[in-house]
Amino acid sequence: MLKDPYLKEVYLDTVERNKDQAEFLQAVREVFESLEPYVVRHPEFQKAGIMERLVEPERMVTFRVTWEDDQGKVHVNRGYRTQFNSAIGPYKGGLRFHPSVNASIIKFLGFEQIFKNSLTGLPLGGGKGGANFDPKGRSDGEVMRFCQSFMTELYRHIGSNCDVPAGDIGVGGREIGFLFGQYKRLSNRFTGVLTGKDVIFGGSLVRTEATGYGLLYFTEEMLKCLRHESVFGKTIVVSGSGNVAIYAVEKATHLGGKVIAMSDSKGYVVDDDGIKLDVVKQIKEVERGRISEYAKRVPGSRYVEGCKGIWSLPCQIALPCATQNELDLESAKLLVANGVMAVSEGANMPSTAEATAYLQEHGVLFGPAKAANAGGVATSGLEMSQNSMRSSWSFEQVDERLKGIMLNIFHMADNAARECDRPGDLVTGANVAGFAKVAKAMLSEGLY
Ligand code: NDP
Repeated sequence: MLKDPYLKEVYLDTVERNKDQAEFLQAVREVFESLEPYVVRHPEFQKAGIMERLVEPERMVTFRVTWEDDQGKVHVNRGYRTQFNSAIGPYKGGLRFHPSVNASIIKFLGFEQIFKNSLTGLPLGGGKGGANFDPKGRSDGEVMRFCQSFMTELYRHIGSNCDVPAGDIGVGGREIGFLFGQYKRLSNRFTGVLTGKDVIFGGSLVRTEATGYGLLYFTEEMLKCLRHESVFGKTIVVSGSGNVAIYAVEKATHLGGKVIAMSDSKGYVVDDDGIKLDVVKQIKEVERGRISEYAKRVPGSRYVEGCKGIWSLPCQIALPCATQNELDLESAKLLVANGVMAVSEGANMPSTAEATAYLQEHGVLFGPAKAANAGGVATSGLEMSQNSMRSSWSFEQVDERLKGIMLNIFHMADNAARECDRPGDLVTGANVAGFAKVAKAMLSEGLY
């Protein structure tokens, strides 16, 4: 509950102006609550209206996306781009294609992105975009026509020094390729305007693996520094089976952990011998199929309908890597009862506020999304550097930098938490460390 009159007033005003945006308000509330002691110590923030400015995007565009399916039927979707904050660099953040996309989801993601990008230590502002388009079950031709139509509007608002989108749910290498091709055609420029590109036309090695690998580098450091523990020998549950989940499983296995379950939006599979990632990659990356296929192909494994039940499986480490609010209070209680030691967020805001509080109150190490999953955007930042220099770095060079950035993020959050007299509270630590730099830049740049 907010006590400071300034923060309370700004929050209530934000509620008033964004009444139907539950996810956005949830994200704002979490950030405000953890920043409260810090903001109270800095009256200059109130004087400069930092918090009011922080919750209002610098710019937000919505637009019509018209496209034709393979049967000649015309469809109209709604596209979005929020350019939330450019205090420390060009807007940067992914594009999400999913039927649930609306202004609230895009704004919560864009708001979180400001602090996440700041934590990477790279000069990146916060943004996010997407459309309520469902690529699932669509042919390559349909996805291409959608992406071309989407970019035909978006290209006016982005640029390599202004706003650099990337992938997110429903936007992987295929979609980035179509979007990049259309941008190039419209602008007649070959620039690093999107990240997550194929390596043969300017992409960075490790970008595909970056969010999942980064999540594990962060988790390993958190376990080491706060519990003298490691991923080695631990039983792990990972929700989702998309980009983040797959490479989280890969790195967890490299580090000697055993992942026993993965899910998609319909259900989850359990393999007590350890998930065979080559099978998951074939089903998800090559065939674009359902996770239930896994149980048909791997003897001894089983499929369970409904994705939420995955949190009832006993494990020591839980990695929610699917979507927002997938881990609720009931799930948190089950995880604690089954002896979970650490929860690290690969997805954005996967834990509800109640779940986060319960886990922290019960001594579970908690790696919040904006710190733990920052490896994706950090590597996108490295892709931008390589594009500007017209050069490319080896897998080992990028992986080494990614690891360095993730360890640094952990220590920034951990140190900030200690300075706030909340040792081990990485939610507070990540929010304060990410915010401090952005607020300072906003103070220096004058009112806008
Ligand atoms: P993908 O589209 O590659 O995969 C999403 C996965 O989550 C799919 O397996 C999907 O299943 C599953 N899923 C969706 N809803 C649910 C649910 N309610 N329960 C269980 N599984 C579900 O997306 P990404 O892996 O790229 O993104 C996942 C999360 O990570 C998102 O929150 C995203 O914002 C975040 N993130 C992604 C980054 C990146 O670099 N890609 C960077 C930082 C954060 P189905 O196929 O059935 O829909």
